[in-house]
Amino acid sequence: MPADAMTATVPAFDQVDFEVHSPEDGRLIASIPAATPEDVQRAATGLRDAQREWEAIGPAARARHVLRLRDWVLDQEPHLLDLMQAEAGKVRQDAAFETAAGADVLAYFARRAETFLRARRPRPHNLLTLGKALQVNHRPHPLVGVITPWNFPLFIPLGDIAPALMAGAAVLLKPAEQTPLTALELGRGWQEIGAPDVLRVLAGAGDTGAAVVDAVDYVQFTGSTATGRAIGMRAAERLIPCSLELGGKDPMIVLEDADVPRAVAGALWGGIFNAGQVCTSVERVYVHADIYQPFVTELAARAGKLRQGPDTVAGTMEVGAMSDPRQVAIVRDHVGDAVARGARVLTGAGTADRAGSWIAPTVLVDVDHSMRIMQEETFGPTLPVMRVRDEDEAVALANDSAYGLSATVWTRDRRRGERVARRLEVGAVNVNDVFTNVISPPLPMGGWRDSGLGARYGGAQGLLRFCRAQGVTSPRLATRADQLLWYPYSPGKSRLAAAFVRFAVGRGRRRLARPEANR
Ligand code: ADP
Repeated sequence: MPADAMTATVPAFDQVDFEVHSPEDGRLIASIPAATPEDVQRAATGLRDAQREWEAIGPAARARHVLRLRDWVLDQEPHLLDLMQAEAGKVRQDAAFETAAGADVLAYFARRAETFLRARRPRPHNLLTLGKALQVNHRPHPLVGVITPWNFPLFIPLGDIAPALMAGAAVLLKPAEQTPLTALELGRGWQEIGAPDVLRVLAGAGDTGAAVVDAVDYVQFTGSTATGRAIGMRAAERLIPCSLELGGKDPMIVLEDADVPRAVAGALWGGIFNAGQVCTSVERVYVHADIYQPFVTELAARAGKLRQGPDTVAGTMEVGAMSDPRQVAIVRDHVGDAVARGARVLTGAGTADRAGSWIAPTVLVDVDHSMRIMQEETFGPTLPVMRVRDEDEAVALANDSAYGLSATVWTRDRRRGERVARRLEVGAVNVNDVFTNVISPPLPMGGWRDSGLGARYGGAQGLLRFCRAQGVTSPRLATRADQLLWYPYSPGKSRLAAAFVRFAVGRGRRRLARPEANR
C-alpha cells in the first residue's frame, strides 16, 4: 500500500491516528488520521459547493464520469484486490466478487439515470384541475452521507455511491475503521479520473460517522442494528431521511422435493462465502425430515474439505479470515452456547488451527430456537441445521426472528418456491439460489423488521430515493382573475364548485345533488 495513496484524500489536521491491522496475522498495515468533526464540516462545505454544478450538468455528463470510475475499478483490479485482502483478510476470489459487482452497479445506474430521472407528467385526476399541466421533478438531496461496514470494503460503498452520484448528489463516504484503505483508494481514483470534487472519503471511527450524520442531507447506513437505530434517531432529530440496511438471521428452507446436491452446495457458498460475513448469508438451515439425513451428511463432508488460508492466486483458497477479531469472539460464543445447550458439532468446532482471526467452517445439528446461534446474527462461517416436519413448520420457524433481511427456499417446483417466498417476513428471497438479489439492482434490497428501514436498489427507486420529489402545476388554458374557488365567494360559485366535485366523485343520485339544494 503506497503511503501517499492512503493519505491523498485525508487532510492531515490534528487528528488522532487509528491503526489498521491484517486479520490474517494481526500485523499493523497502516496508521491513518481520523477525520474530526471540523474536517467533516469542511468537507461537507466543499462538496455542497461542487454539487450545484454536478446537478446542473445533467445525467448524461455525470454518467461519463461514473463510467470512467467503472473503468478505473477494472483497470486497478489487482491493486484493489491486494488492499481488500490486506485489510479484510479475504481470499482473492471473494475480493474479486467486489470489483465485478461494483463495476456492474456503476454501469447499471450510469446507463439508466437519464430515464429514471426524467420528469413525470401525470394526468389531472378531476374536472377542477383538468386545465392544468402536472409535473413531478426529481431534485437530489444535495449531500448524501454513506456510512459503511467492514465486510465489503468496495462493493457496499459503490452500491450507494453509484446511484447517489447519478442522482446528482455529492457524496461523503465514511468507511468502517477496520477497513478504510480500499475506500480511501476509491476516493483517490475519483480524483485520478479527473472527476469533479463531489466524492470525498473520510476515515475514522463511530464519532466521525456521527459527525457525518450531522453534516449531510441524507444518510445511507449499512451496519449493525444498534448503530442503525442510533443513526435513525439522530436523523429524525435533524429531520433528514435515512436508509438503513442492518443485521440479518437469514433462514434457508429445504423442502422435501429439493435437489439435495444443489441445496448442499448452495448452503455451503451461501453460509461460508466471505467467511460468513455477508448480511444476507445463510445463518440457519431448516431441512425437511425426508431428506434431512443425506443433506446433513453431505454438508458436513463438503464443509470439512473447504480450503482455508491466505492466498495470492484467485481460486486457490475458499475460506478467508474474519475481518474483525471481535467477530471471532461472537462466533465462538454462539457455537459455545449451542454446544452447552445440546447441539452437536459435525465439523469445524468454531475454531481454526492458526494464529489471527480465523474460524473454520462449522456445521452444527440438534440446534433449536433457545440457542443464540438460531436467534442472533452470528456473521461467521457457521451452518446450524434443524430438521422440520413440513413446509408450515419451516415457514413458522423462519419467521420466528427479530430480523427480516432475506431468505432462501429450495424446491424443484418453482411455483411452490415463489409461493413459500410470499409467506416469509423478509425483504428478499432467492429460490434455489443465494445472493442473486444482492447483484440485481432492478430489485429492491432492504430489510424488514429489525433488519432495516428503506431499501437500496430497486430500479428507478434506487436512484429516486436520493431525490426529493417536486410537484409543479401550471395552467394549460388562458387564465382569468375570477377563479371559481377564489374570492369573492358567491352562492352561485359555491353551488357550481360543489356540483363539480359531486359530479366528479359522487355516486348515486342522492349524493350527486347537494344536500343544501334539497332543503
Ligand atoms: P459493526 O458493523 O462492526 O457491527 P457498526 O454497525 O457500529 O459496527 O459500524 C458500521 C459503521 O458505522 C462503521 O463505519 C462505524 O464506524 C460506523 N458507526 C459506528 N457508530 C456510529 C455512530 N454512532 N454514528 C455514525 N456511524 C457510526
